[in-house]
Amino acid sequence: MTMSTAQGFEPPPGPEEESVCRVCGYDEELFWEGGWPTNAICPCCGNESDIKDLSVMGIRDYRGYWVGHGAQWNSPPLKPKDWDLLKQIANIPPEWR
Ligand SMILES: [Zn+2]
Repeated sequence: MTMSTAQGFEPPPGPEEESVCRVCGYDEELFWEGGWPTNAICPCCGNESDIKDLSVMGIRDYRGYWVGHGAQWNSPPLKPKDWDLLKQIANIPPEWR
């Protein structure tokens, strides 16, 4: 990030719309809207979409911690019976892997 002192219009930091969780690949929730995080909490990994999610290292840390603790669902009732972690993480956009 560069600090610009010049005339202040900076585009928002994120995508117009993004429904895939950057941490776990869950795809049923709107995590980014109009370039900003929605603060939605992922029912799967429990990550809250947030400005911190602009850091791929932060995303990887959280994912490593989550998987290291057994990839537990934050909202277990929403977990599909045939849920497959590896299938889901294949949804993670390449730039957040
Ligand atoms: Zn997630």
